[in-house]
Amino acid sequence: MRAEPDVRGVDVLIRGAGPVGCALALALRTSGLRVGVLGSASQNASFRPIALSYASRLILERVGVWGALAATAIATICVSQAGGFGRTRFDAADAGVPALGYVTDYSELSQRLKEAARELLLDEEVPARCVVHAEGWAADAAERRYAQDALVALVQTQPPSVALAFERFTPEGPLALLPFAGRYAVVWSMSPGRSATLAAASEEQFLGELAAAAGAAPGLPVRARARALQPLVLRVRPATIGERAVYIGNAAQTLHPVAGQGLNLGLRDAWDLAQTLHGAPDPGDPRTLERYVRRRRLDAGAVMRQLEALVRRRGLAESVRISDACAGGCWMRGPNVTVTIYPAVRPGERPDHVAVGRKTYVASLNTLDCLSRVIDDNLRG
Ligand SMILES: Cc1cc2nc3c(=O)[nH]c(=O)nc-3n(C[C@H](O)[C@H](O)[C@H](O)COP(=O)(O)OP(=O)(O)OC[C@H]3O[C@@H](n4cnc5c(N)ncnc54)[C@H](O)[C@@H]3O)c2cc1C
Repeated sequence: MRAEPDVRGVDVLIRGAGPVGCALALALRTSGLRVGVLGSASQNASFRPIALSYASRLILERVGVWGALAATAIATICVSQAGGFGRTRFDAADAGVPALGYVTDYSELSQRLKEAARELLLDEEVPARCVVHAEGWAADAAERRYAQDALVALVQTQPPSVALAFERFTPEGPLALLPFAGRYAVVWSMSPGRSATLAAASEEQFLGELAAAAGAAPGLPVRARARALQPLVLRVRPATIGERAVYIGNAAQTLHPVAGQGLNLGLRDAWDLAQTLHGAPDPGDPRTLERYVRRRRLDAGAVMRQLEALVRRRGLAESVRISDACAGGCWMRGPNVTVTIYPAVRPGERPDHVAVGRKTYVASLNTLDCLSRVIDDNLRG
């Protein structure tokens, strides 16, 4: 069925003026398509630290909002396990990128994107040849609630943070301390009961518990503000396209934030969709939408092939598994690649099938050298 253009309508209607919807609208500015974004101009979100990848920075530069954004570069990431001595360091230089990531605040990023796209904002539904769902949720997607909530906070330490991020695996759940304007943005996943207790605890008690879990390396936590709880869900739509419709960002997949990939993935969805729609005679044509789906899968395919070759070259096939899925447990094949590392079996030992680490990589070919060091550190250290 071909939808005829409507003078009141648009070619592409984006439902949801979140970061992914606005990024798509901005990326379509030069496409010649009439674009509208349905969503409110106001912004009212609690503090949520977001670690952006280098690829996301490039997308934000291209849509013209990177320069105005307050973001702190991560030069090094230190990964450790509470109670263990070993630690692994990733350096930006190893990955061949200027920074391993950039930390910003969700509400500031959303606001910058929304301001840039304000001429395209609509406050009511209009007819469209293609509807893009960027509402951040999907009523018809299967949902799994994690047995964890994320407790976020902005923490001042002595000495202040610089460009070093910490990712620590604790018995309660993963704890990330991300440098943000001289402080640390903390994302701490733990059972809902415990996170509610810590969210309501006195500042002194919270700081004490954080210091015990984080270890000495990030410095002594002395102030905490903007504590907030975020329930964690895994929500994946079985299909990301429908009748003249396409789902991107969290509306297509909502992941556990330990992968730090939700928005990074959403921005790549937006960018790839914009590239597919540029020059398309009918943006809602099923063949056009299928091209978008294929384009997203190409990304993952390229990374998988490179990773498999790397694992073969190093004779690690027994210890490292590569899968076309996300570490958050998505069951759908998608634009994610997960690397699972198992402990090396020493002579005389029985194989242990409990993974040492599991991480989602989303089309980041630049990080392959870095990854090979992580594999070495975990298996040969
Ligand atoms: C604690 C935490 C930490 C995180 N850390 C990271 C990280 O480090 N790196 C990373 O990449 N990701 C991270 N994420 C994930 C990231 O926040 C999301 O992936 C991202 O916000 C998705 O953007 P979106 O635009 O798709 O959806 P949203 O941000 O949810 O925006 C959707 C917008 O659509 C609006 N809307 C909803 N329904 C309608 C409707 N019917 N009509 C019009 N508008 C509608 C909503 O009000 C909202 O403004 C984290 C998430 C959490 C919870």
